[in-house]
Amino acid sequence: NSDLHLQYQITVFGEGDRLLVARDITRLVRLEQTRQDFVANASHELRTPLTVIRGYVETFLDQDLPRPLARAMGQMQAQARRMESLVNDLLLLSRLESSNHIADEHQIQLRPMLEQIHQDARALTQTQEKNQVINLQLDSDLDLAGQELELHSAFSNLVFNAVRYTPAQGKITLRWWTDTHGGHFSVTDDGIGIDSIHIPRLTERFYRVDESRSSSSGGTGLGLAIVKHVLVRHGARLSIDSQPGQGSTFSCHFPPEMLIGTSGTRPAEAA
Ligand code: ADP
Repeated sequence: NSDLHLQYQITVFGEGDRLLVARDITRLVRLEQTRQDFVANASHELRTPLTVIRGYVETFLDQDLPRPLARAMGQMQAQARRMESLVNDLLLLSRLESSNHIADEHQIQLRPMLEQIHQDARALTQTQEKNQVINLQLDSDLDLAGQELELHSAFSNLVFNAVRYTPAQGKITLRWWTDTHGGHFSVTDDGIGIDSIHIPRLTERFYRVDESRSSSSGGTGLGLAIVKHVLVRHGARLSIDSQPGQGSTFSCHFPPEMLIGTSGTRPAEAA
């Protein structure tokens, strides 16, 4: 009941004589709302002091410092940057969690977006001195309707994970294609892979297969949670196919009604 702000979960059991169970989940929903508001406010408040700390550290780093001090300042800069990405990811996630639908959608030009992500991934593999071979395969000219920043963030998270969890000289392929089921974006790597027992939990906040390897890799532990929420908001879904020691494929599947032709037409509506 939206006037009284009461929330019920309705479950129907049975085939012939049916049993209808209504459970009052108002308190649960309010608690979840309080948790989301707290995370959003705390992250927001942490942003300014962090920017100030990083600013001062960077001013010091510009000076001619004695070696041990320069090393300590370098560490402080790296940790402040890590905290900034964590705070930014927490803010993004709480914004995504506040609704299961995007407010307004636009035509996203996939080619330039994916070319940019491809370029950023190549820059990352070079900075990490991994020299992986990263290919981009665009097998469809169709675009997507959605929120550009959200999809950019989801796709980049998958691609940067592939770079992080694939050893040097590995191979990574980004692919966009369409068929009668809709549009698909996949990232395939021949990296460390994931044991099947972990797969159902990967999109939980801060869930990591190998804590020590993951936290040193530069991620925030929120990447796949962000991907999942962005996809839910776009009516899309994530599938994960992985073999330990062989590699992984993370795929995003979008329904046909979200596809748009270059002239702005929707093939699903025309059919
Ligand atoms: P993180 O910041 O730790 O990368 P994510 O939510 O993006 O957080 O990923 C969760 C975990 O899933 C990672 O810690 C890692 O163990 C595993 N993972 C994600 N992508 C891959 C991949 N391409 N190959 C192997 N493991 C992966």
